[in-house]
Amino acid sequence: MSTPNTPPTSPILRITSRTAEVGGIPIHRLMPSRQRRMIGAWCFLDHAGPSTFEPGAGMRVGPHPHIGLQTFTWMIKGEVLHRDSLGNKQIIRPGQVNLMTAGHGIAHTEESLAQEDTLHATQLWIALPPPDSHCAPAFDHHPELPLWSLNGCQLTLLAGSYNGYTAPPKLYSPLVGIDLNSTAGSAMTLPLDSEFEYGVLTLEGQTIINGQAFAVDELAYLGLGLHEINLELAPGGSRAILLGGLPFSSDVLIWWNFVGHNKTDIARAQHDWETGSERFGTVHGYDGPPLTAPPLPPGWTI
Ligand code: MN
Repeated sequence: MSTPNTPPTSPILRITSRTAEVGGIPIHRLMPSRQRRMIGAWCFLDHAGPSTFEPGAGMRVGPHPHIGLQTFTWMIKGEVLHRDSLGNKQIIRPGQVNLMTAGHGIAHTEESLAQEDTLHATQLWIALPPPDSHCAPAFDHHPELPLWSLNGCQLTLLAGSYNGYTAPPKLYSPLVGIDLNSTAGSAMTLPLDSEFEYGVLTLEGQTIINGQAFAVDELAYLGLGLHEINLELAPGGSRAILLGGLPFSSDVLIWWNFVGHNKTDIARAQHDWETGSERFGTVHGYDGPPLTAPPLPPGWTI
């Protein structure tokens, strides 16, 4: 049994974020980055907010398509309405997960509620492995997730299995996701699966991971082969998300809102979106125009 003072068990890669804007809300993007494209099948990681705004001036993301992935939204503060081309209309509130499986194709919108004045969330994408990358689209809302306390920290299991719990989101490859939230500070040793690779993104406050300090919007990539992690959350309100998974076995291409295993798949999806193909269906009830894809890179053709 080691203690929080144990020296680092392996070098930690410190990944810094780049800033962007999604639907009018500033975000910090951690993956994909030059330093790290994936953690298991987790292939995209945005930290949205924390952001405050005038009621009515919150996030608005118009109709846009996805293929080959699951979008995984973890809401920390604020409320967002999701609509999709399967006819789902679902508000996501703090402590809840929305999981949209794009598979062969789906379109959706996301918007802050009219009276809302805050947003703090993470949005992740999970790449679907080749046998499932063209599966039928689906949407699932998960209002309740396993949660427990450890050494002054509240842990919420977002995805996969851990500590005897299994989270409800349907996954297509071995993954785990855990939210760690502490107001008064906490130190713990968490067992890990040595076949998984792991990363920790600090969302609020400060964390110390195997003796190294990480600030908000720094992603610590821990790699493979670890049996445990020593994690401290600083007092005064610290929150982090632990992501892990079996290294993904195939190449993944990400272009705009598409994830594919070859350029042709992605070029076909873009063509189908631009020509209004029934593949992506129609999102009803959103007041605004659909999003336009940027031009494909040269040589990406059907
Ligand atoms: Mn989307």
